[in-house]
This record gives sequence, structure tokens and C-alpha cells, in this order.
Amino acid sequence: MSSPEIVIRPEAGVPVVAATDVVVVGGGPAGIAAAVSAARNGASVTLVERYPYLGGLASGGMVLVLDDMHNDTEISVRGLAMEMIDRMHAKGLCVYPPEADRAPSVRATEALWRKWSRWGVFDFHTRTKPHPIVFAAAFDPDGFRQAALDMVQAAGVALRLHSWFQSAIVEDGRAAGVIVETKEGAQAIRAGVVIDATGDLDVAAGAGAAFTEGAYIVTTVSRIGGVDTEAAERFQFEEPERFAAVDRQARRLIGGCWQYWWLKTPLPGVVWCNCPHMTGFDGMKVADLTAAEFEGRRRMQALLEFARENMPGFERAYFVDFAPQTGVRQTRLLEGEYVVTRQDVADRVHFHDSVCRGRDYYTPYRALLPVGVDQLLVAGRHYSATRQAQKMSREIPPCMAMGEAAGIAAALALAGGIVVRDVDVRAIQKRMRAQGADPGDRPAGNALLTEAA
Ligand SMILES: Cc1cc2nc3c(=O)[nH]c(=O)nc-3n(C[C@H](O)[C@H](O)[C@H](O)COP(=O)(O)OP(=O)(O)OC[C@H]3O[C@@H](n4cnc5c(N)ncnc54)[C@H](O)[C@@H]3O)c2cc1C
Repeated sequence: MSSPEIVIRPEAGVPVVAATDVVVVGGGPAGIAAAVSAARNGASVTLVERYPYLGGLASGGMVLVLDDMHNDTEISVRGLAMEMIDRMHAKGLCVYPPEADRAPSVRATEALWRKWSRWGVFDFHTRTKPHPIVFAAAFDPDGFRQAALDMVQAAGVALRLHSWFQSAIVEDGRAAGVIVETKEGAQAIRAGVVIDATGDLDVAAGAGAAFTEGAYIVTTVSRIGGVDTEAAERFQFEEPERFAAVDRQARRLIGGCWQYWWLKTPLPGVVWCNCPHMTGFDGMKVADLTAAEFEGRRRMQALLEFARENMPGFERAYFVDFAPQTGVRQTRLLEGEYVVTRQDVADRVHFHDSVCRGRDYYTPYRALLPVGVDQLLVAGRHYSATRQAQKMSREIPPCMAMGEAAGIAAALALAGGIVVRDVDVRAIQKRMRAQGADPGDRPAGNALLTEAA
């Protein structure tokens, strides 16, 4: 391919619109947690987000089940992820199974499966069927937005929406702030610590940190309304053979999908479709993201027409909306001080510097630290992991836990007058526990201990 034509952008000074202890770029699950956590630990915080809402893929991407927060024996992610659930639950915008219906105290039964499976709150990692019902939370996307706004406002975070990260300010090898693009032109925000929570590593890559090019399936998530979910479930459970045939045909039309192409939401009659799974699209490329929008809608339109004709419960179904944010699971991944491997996740390797955890895997502080750039932390789905490891460890609750730990680390560094790389990991672990989170420094019984504390 020949090189594209180039135009020279005139150099211009950029006004500094804010000076803050910590700037968090990206208001998704990781960024919300990082901002709230840093502010609650005494730092002044500015949170920058390109869209007019908070929540990232959890709200704009309409990814509507918080999972990977329960292992065989316990709820493994608490802290700010649990606070988010509690806040949404109080608004009637979040549903989760009560303890009386959940593993480990309750064994999986067909009755529980029928009651809960279409909420997506089961452990799909088990080979046995029915899968056990576990702690996971189905929520409403605007519930997540509302709760996030409540949390950042109560913590005193200065929120700047409609601001696209443009470039990193790096001085003497230290991140010193960011420049964002806005309707008012470019704006600079100076900061003592920068936290990259863009999901695509925009800031760290711009600051010169090493990274791997990741890629994975892309999805245009949608919601369908007017569904009689009781009729649809009756058909599934009472006419299993007919259901299997129709459902197989539906999934064939979607062209790449997991088994449960529709799940219930807290809004009656509204289901969400975590599909199609589309390959060959690069989540960093404008042309690919544009093409994905057409392709995803084409497939889902075909599905809806088929479902209306053939699926009991879907006769009067219609699209409520397609997610405003394209479902990109993986792009750039940090190559940080430690790169978490597939084996680390699968073997539940416990690290002496674990600062947070997911289902049954642990994240070392080093995986949030870029090599070579100081005062920069990375939290969320672009953390330092191999492509395979990230696929297994990037769910919303563990991303929130990473943000929570990064926010604490930033506040501790500033309070101590040191760089984030030198923060005492035990102090982060202690604060995590004080905030009700599990830093993962005390491995569960089944974790593999490879490094001494
Ligand atoms: C289709 C799909 C299904 C999934 N299913 C599940 C599931 O069922 N359960 C689950 O727990 N997880 C699921 N996941 C994974 C989960 O949604 C993500 O891994 C998680 O949301 C990552 O959080 P994050 O904060 O790291 O990134 P994101 O959610 O991507 O948030 C990044 C934020 O940064 C902002 N941003 C990005 N670039 C810029 C910029 N240049 N300037 C300013 N702001 C910027 C974005 O607008 C966004 O708000 C799914 C993901 C996808 C795509």
C-alpha cells in the first residue's frame, strides 16, 4: 500500500484547563473505580471521558452482566464493584440470585437452572450441567451510568465529559498530564499521576510504553423489547427438541454466537443480545469499526425477523437500541513490568504483589506498571497480559478492582512524594482490604503459590 498523503498541522499552544493530583483517562468500569478510589484516598482527581456518559462497555457497550466475581467457594471481587451493584440494586436496576439459590451452599438443580439461566448468572466454566448458579449481577445500562455519576460526584471527582484523549504530556520520563480534544479546541490537564483506563491503552502507547497488538471478536450488542420472556422460557424448557431446532437456526443466522443469544434484563420484556461474534475487525481501525456496525445490524435484523416468525415469545419483538459503543474486547495490551500469562490465570497463580483479583485469578501490581515511563498506571482490559490471558481475565468486576488498586497506588505515591513504581505494595493491599476489596494477597485454598511474600 502506498503511503497516505500528509498534511502538516500548525503548532499551537494549548491552554491548561486543570491542574490535579491524578488524571484518569477513560470513564469505563476501571476508570470510574480508579477515580473514586484515588479521591477517597485524599487525592484531587480529574476524570476525562470522550462520551457524554460514564460506564464504558458496561453502559455504552450494553454488556449487562457483572460476572467473574465468584470462584468455587466465595465472592472474590467486592469493594467498588460490589458498591456499584448495591447502588444499582437500590434503584431497582440490578438483579442477582440470593444466597439461598447460589453455589456453594446450594447444589445446581434443574429448577434453579430454569429460574436463573436466562439472567446469565451461572458458572459457565464448569463442565457439569446444569451449571451452578453463582453470584453475578444482571443490570440496566442507565442504572450503571446513574450509579457511576453518583459515585464520582460524592467522591468530589472533577468530571470532564466530551473530551477525547489526544496526547500524553511526558517530561523527563515522567507522565505529567494529558492533552484532550474538545469542541473548544485542545485542552491540557496537568497531573502528578496519570492513570490510563481507555481500554485501548491510548495514553500509555502515546507516552511511549511498550505494548502488544491484541485482537479478538467484535460485537454490536443490541436490546430487543416486546418479548414475552415467560413464553420464551416455557418453549425452551417444555418443548426442548423443538426449541433446540429453532434456536440452532437462530444462531446460524447470527453467524457466530455463544449458546445464550438472549438474556433477561431488569426491564420487563427487554432482553439483551451479546452477539454476533464477528471476526476480522480491528477495534482500532475506523474503517473496520464502521463496517462492523453495518455487518452486526445486518445479522441481527435477520435474526429478529426469524425470531418473530418462529420463536414463541418473540412475535411482537422489536429493537430497542444498538449499543452506542462498539463491543471491542481486546486491542493494545501493555507490556508492563510483569506480563500475566494464560498459565498464571489457569493455574490461579498467586503473586506476592497481588493487588486485586477476579474469579480465581490474581493481578500483580507490576501488571499495572509500564516499563520506562514514571507516574503512569494502567488499569482495565488493556493491562499487562498476553492475548490469551486477557481473554480469560478482562470482565467488568476485575477491571473495576484493577482501577480501585491503581487509584490507591496513585494517592499513596503522591502523599509519600514518591513515584508510583516505588509504592509499598503492602500498603496498597492494606487499603484495598480497608475498602472492603480483596487484594488477593491471601490466596484461596486452591491457588498455586509460586512466589514467597
Ligand atoms: C461484547 C462484549 C461482551 C462482554 N461480556 C461481558 C460480560 O458478560 N460480563 C463482564 O463482566 N464483562 C464482559 N465483557 C468485558 C468487559 O465489558 C470489558 O472488558 C470491560 O468493560 C473493560 O473495562 P475498561 O474500563 O477496562 O474498558 P472500557 O469498558 O472499554 O472503558 C474504557 C473507557 O474509556 C473511554 N475512552 C477510550 N478511549 C478514550 C479516549 N481516547 N479519550 C477519552 N476517553 C476514552 C471509553 O469511552 C470508555 O468509557 C464483554 C465485552 C464485550 C465487548
